[in-house]
Amino acid sequence: MYLAERDALTGLYNRHRFNEEMGRMVAEAQRGSTRVALLFFDLDEFKYINDTFGHRAGDATLIRVAGEVGGQVRRNEIFARLGGDEFAILVPDISEEMLKILAERITRSIAQVRFQFEGQSLRLTCSCGIAVYPDHARNTEDLVARADAAMYQAKEAGKNAWRIYRADLDDSQRMVMQLSWNDRILQALENDLMDLHFQGIYTAKERTLVHFEVLLRMRDKDDRTLTIMPGDFIPVAEKSGKILEIDRWVLSRSIKMLADVSAIPALAVNISGRSLDDPTLPQFIADELRRLGVPAKRLLVELTETSAVSDLHDARRFIEALQHTGCGVCLDDFGTGFSSFAYLKHLHVDAIKIDGLFIRNLARDPDNQLFVKAMVSVARGMHKTIIAECVEDEETLLMLAAFGVDCVQGYHLEKPVANPPLIPTGINVRTLDLPFLQ
Ligand code: C2E
Ligand code: MG
Ligand code: MG
Repeated sequence: MYLAERDALTGLYNRHRFNEEMGRMVAEAQRGSTRVALLFFDLDEFKYINDTFGHRAGDATLIRVAGEVGGQVRRNEIFARLGGDEFAILVPDISEEMLKILAERITRSIAQVRFQFEGQSLRLTCSCGIAVYPDHARNTEDLVARADAAMYQAKEAGKNAWRIYRADLDDSQRMVMQLSWNDRILQALENDLMDLHFQGIYTAKERTLVHFEVLLRMRDKDDRTLTIMPGDFIPVAEKSGKILEIDRWVLSRSIKMLADVSAIPALAVNISGRSLDDPTLPQFIADELRRLGVPAKRLLVELTETSAVSDLHDARRFIEALQHTGCGVCLDDFGTGFSSFAYLKHLHVDAIKIDGLFIRNLARDPDNQLFVKAMVSVARGMHKTIIAECVEDEETLLMLAAFGVDCVQGYHLEKPVANPPLIPTGINVRTLDLPFLQ
């Protein structure tokens, strides 16, 4: 129960529990003619910290923020991490005056955090948006949209700020921002500004190359040397639905590369959870493979576990259709969603990829060692191939091999590289008898 409603990193409530509580509080406010405030905030420099100092620094930052803000939150309030650096607080029955004091306290407590990364002293700030039911919204969906809009209003005001939702400031700026991102994605698809990068997946014991994971990059229209990472545009594309087009584009490109370069062992392509809504996708894959004469077993589809489990029934149907085409299916980011093990029983995938969260600090984290061992033993018993991502050092690699993980991927072996993947000389490529390659 704890895992089902908590965020694994910070211990705060997760999105699932947050949504439940919001529904409950809004219904209660409606009955009692009271109000509910929703505060949304994210960190202004999170992406910079992650990109510059690595995910470990990013994780440490999130934990620290959860601690600082947690101290300001009362018992009847709900503090949750919604994902990435997005946090939310639900406050029942609060006066306008108290709400302003709370917002000020939260932004100030974050601004007082000092961080020391690689000798560089960093100051954190956040932008906080507030919306109130029923003043600004008639239901939970609107409440979230309005708090989100208010957060953008705070960012527009120069960050390190909080704003209560103002209808007159909404739409204009937000629409423009969202539009411009969608335009950029569209432009990138039309003008050949999308690039594929590749990262090798190796056997843990012999370290032979098994397949490559395809990772998408977008180049800036005005400065083609600027690379935009998927974390920046995939969420936007998922919101707007453009992701369906992106996923098809990546699939087509990857299948073409498999047809053109017969020396590539196999390619693993990431598919967004949104694509589960597209029932024609498995047929599209089958058609592309047949058209270019590529054996289906050279393609592996990675589904993120949280997306796969959000609608178990759809996910199951989709996975069965994919396997019908003959390609392999891997559950990505395994262990981050809730009830991973229970879902494994229902989703008949060929492989699981243990999320980097459990791997990055493995050698120094006894809890993670326990989790990984448990995941290996369950997945092994169910005849799944086990892959670990984000392997950053030799110690971790040795430990994973000893635990019985089949394959590894990470900066320790190689960073993602631009296309086409050159198979490193001296490395023996072989087709493994992993379930998805059988
Ligand atoms: P993912 O599928 O879990 O991919 C693993 C991410 O970890 C990649 O980030 C990879 O570059 C990074 N990584 C690899 N080794 C290490 C390591 O040793 N340490 C650390 N800290 N990180 C490592 P990237 O390329 O930024 O991709 C992020 C996410 O974006 C992916 O997570 C995937 O969910 C999504 N994504 C990437 N390409 C595509 C795509 O073509 N389509 C879709 N729908 N999503 C994609
Ligand atoms: Mg992946
Ligand atoms: Mg992953």
